[in-house]
Order: sequence, then C-alpha cells, then structure tokens
Amino acid sequence: METYIMSLDQGTTSSRCILFDKGGNICSMAQKEFTQIYPQPGWVEHDPMEIWSSQLSVAAEAMVKINVNAGQIRGIGITNQRETTIVWDADTGRPVYNAIVWQCRRTADRIEQLKKDGWEQRIKERTGLIPDAYFSASKIAWILEHAVDAREKAEAGKLRFGTVDSWLIWNLTRGKVHATDYTNASRTMLFDIRNLRWDQELLDYFKIPESMLPRVYPSSHLFGMTDVSFLGGEIPIAGAAGDQQAALFGQCCFEEGEVKNTYGTGCFLLMNTGKKIINSSAGLLTTIAATADCDSAVGDAKDAKDAKDCVNYALEGSVFVAGAAIQWLRDGMELVRNAAESERFAAQVEDTDGMYLVPAFAGLGAPYWNPYARGTIVGITRGTSRAHFIRATLESIAYQTADLLHAMEQDSGIGLKSLKVDGGASANDFLMQFQADVIDADTVRPGCIETTALGAAYLAGLAVGYWKDQEEIRANWKPDKTFLPGMDEKKRAVLLKGWRRAVKCALAWAEE
Ligand code: ADP
Repeated sequence: METYIMSLDQGTTSSRCILFDKGGNICSMAQKEFTQIYPQPGWVEHDPMEIWSSQLSVAAEAMVKINVNAGQIRGIGITNQRETTIVWDADTGRPVYNAIVWQCRRTADRIEQLKKDGWEQRIKERTGLIPDAYFSASKIAWILEHAVDAREKAEAGKLRFGTVDSWLIWNLTRGKVHATDYTNASRTMLFDIRNLRWDQELLDYFKIPESMLPRVYPSSHLFGMTDVSFLGGEIPIAGAAGDQQAALFGQCCFEEGEVKNTYGTGCFLLMNTGKKIINSSAGLLTTIAATADCDSAVGDAKDAKDAKDCVNYALEGSVFVAGAAIQWLRDGMELVRNAAESERFAAQVEDTDGMYLVPAFAGLGAPYWNPYARGTIVGITRGTSRAHFIRATLESIAYQTADLLHAMEQDSGIGLKSLKVDGGASANDFLMQFQADVIDADTVRPGCIETTALGAAYLAGLAVGYWKDQEEIRANWKPDKTFLPGMDEKKRAVLLKGWRRAVKCALAWAEE
C-alpha cells in the first residue's frame, strides 16, 4: 500500500495540509482560510482554537480525498507562521488570550523601552535578532500583563507558551508534549542561539517564568504521537520548522552558501551559513536553520552541547513589499486584471525608459531600515506608459532582492552560487529573468514551488526513515526552469546605479 508524509502548513491566513509521496510529489491537498481579527489599528490576532480546528479538519480532508488511513501516514511534519504567540492553561488546554500574530504592533512601545534600557546589543548578540515587536518575547509579556489572572497562574507554573508549532503539537498529542524546534525558538527573542538554550537574563527582563516554555528539539525529531482519536490512529509527529526555514530545507539548501528567495506578499531571502554565526552589519537577522543531521536521541535542550554539532545557522533578510506591489497594481491602481497579466505588459516594452518605482509603502527593510520612507516614483516623462509603470513595479522586486543579496554577500563573504526561488510571484518569467540579470547569477525555479510544506515533510520523513538521507531528497529536487543572466555588465551597473538613486529619493522624502 502507498505510504505518505503529511505536512501541516499553518500559515498566517490559512491552514493547509499536503500529503507527499517518496518522490516529493503532492498527492493530496486541503486548505482552509480562517478569521483575521483586528481589534484596533495595528493589532492582529487569531483564535487559537480556530487555528487548531482548521488544521485538524484539513488534515482529515486531505486523507479522505485520496482514501488514505492513518497507517499509511508514516509521519507528520509541521511548518508554521513564525513568532505568533499563544499562551494557554496547562490544565484545561484553553488559551488565556487570542494568538498575537507576528504582524501585531501592540508592543512597539515596549521595544522602544527595551532600547532605552540598553538591551539592544545584548539581544542581537544572544538571539541574532534586531529587537522588534514582531518576535514573541514582548507579546508573551503583554499577555501576562493583560489576560485575567495570567500573571498569578504563570507564577504558579500553570501556563504554557508556544509558537504555533508547539500549540499544534500540544493539541495533537492531547497535552502530552510541550515542545518546539530550534528554528521556531530562535524567533522568540528569548533563545540563546549560540548555547541553544532559553536565555535566563532575557526571561527575567521580560518577567517570563521558565515553566511556561517548551522543550526545544532539533527540527527533524520524534516529538510525540498523535492521539488516536484525531486521525484514526497514532501517527509520529517527526518534524517542525518555521515557514522560512522549512522552505530553505525544502529547496535542499543544505550546504553553506546556498540561498533561496521566496516571492510572496514580501520576499524572504535566506542563506545557509553552516556552522557560522554571522553578525550582520547590514541589518540582516541571524537565525537557526533546520537540519536533519542530529541523531534523534539528541534533542533535549539539556543535550545542547551535542546538538551544537548538528545545528546550522542562516542569515535572513526580508523585503516588506514584493508581490504586494503587484496586488496594488491590480486593486489600487487597476492597471492589471490579475497578477499574471503583469508579465505580458512588462514584455511589451524594452525597458522602463528611465523610470523607477520604489515600493516603500511601509518603509524600507534591510539594508536600509527606514520606517518612514514611502513609495516613490522617479524618472517619469511624457513617454511613460502603463507598460513602463508595470515593468518598473516588477523590476523593483528584483532590485530589492539584489540589495539583500549584496548585503548578504558582504556580511558572509560567501559569493552566490545560484539563487533558488519559490512563492507565488516566482511564477512570473519576466521577473525571474530580470532577477538573474541584475544579480548576475543563475536563478532556478523548482518544479514544486510548495517548498515550505515540502521542507516540513522532508524533516519528518528523514526522522522516521521514510527517506534514507539528504541525498535521496536532493534527487527529488528538479528544476522547472533555470534563468541564466544575459545582461552585459555595463548595463547592469547603470540600472543598479539608477535604482540606488531612486531609493535615495524615497529616503530623502522621509527626512522632513
Ligand atoms: P503569500 O504566501 O505571502 O500569501 P504567495 O506565495 O501565495 O504569497 O504569492 C502571492 C503573491 O504573489 C501576491 O502578492 C501576488 O500579487 C503575487 N503574484 C502571484 N502571481 C504572480 C505573477 N504571475 N506575477 C507577479 N506576481 C504574482
């Protein structure tokens, strides 16, 4: 009988389940959107019970669709929206507050305070992160301060914290296992990424009792068994990783220097830096990458010394507005009817005729880090047409990625071999070709662009022996299309110089 690995892909807007076979092929998929809660401007919440129920129902649906029973599922891998914070009561399993979503800015003031308290440098050194309200630490502190009786219960050891992976593992095991993996832990802003343990000083600073925290294990590890009541049998939960790290693994970026870029709403560029912890001077984050190198006996945070040998690190840079700029062309400007149409328009003109568009709609991220910069268009002439406008928007996605890559190469000293791409906007051939041209490196799109779900499946499948080793997995990775750089150096230099001037204009606008 055919066997599968189940991937639970718990994203920001939907819960999905994909069943993969040994060839890494998608055999069944189910997806369900869930409610986004906006209690006030800048605040974003999810109902943790809805996260759990939607995830469980898509798991069952994916099995039913192809008539698979629990015995045919060899393992489950979980990948999740990162940093989103859930606190629940250990006795009842009920959340004490809604999930505070990574995008939520409610603790921005707390982070300002932290900087004033002089903790910025310490946090960078310990956690690899730039202090921000995105990460879980200040969200946990907020819940303990604001949810009814939360502080007392937490002090009495009765509350549990988890990112979404932990919440799902807890529920799937009916409260038997409270655990997370290194990649998710590294996004809490409470985890010492060098020594692979929760950082007591940071816990004290945020007044978070250690009893709330999950045990931390490698990403490819037997976390526990699903309770028999859920999916008709006990299934090993054998993999967990944050979405971007799962995508890095799903793209088979196992070696130092390998890079992937995901073109979704924003862009997430990650480089595997092997055993090296690289402190960025260009505003990139240092984070833990998922590996499957750990002996599954290792894994308890107490064995962190052994785990150090098998943890890899990554540099991460993000662009806030990428595919979202194309959505804006569609919904805001009404210049295209759908995202795919942008490709046809861009191809109608040879270039942008000197026009640049910097989509700094919500400030600029790495390497500029300016929250006040705003969208800027320069170089418009009487000859500027709709096609130029659309082309300039697409090109801006590639330029922003080029900036990140440049920062990454400088920080790491590692030259780019080739760029592996995925995410919705990677379907755009014009964009991919222009990307290859401006970074002067091969840009490779795999056949399966569901790399996040695939990465989680691989992590689980390796832990249970469904796949023998990484080499077997690598054989599954097949390019759909490789875009070779074809632009001469002089032209590239001129274009990049123009882009940087345009960015300067966006930054100058912020100065007043
Ligand atoms: P997310 O996971 O962030 O929701 P997806 O990976 O689903 O994102 O990608 C959706 C994004 O990609 C949207 O912002 C959309 O505008 C953009 N997109 C989708 N198809 C294309 C295309 N052919 N060309 C350009 N952009 C596209």
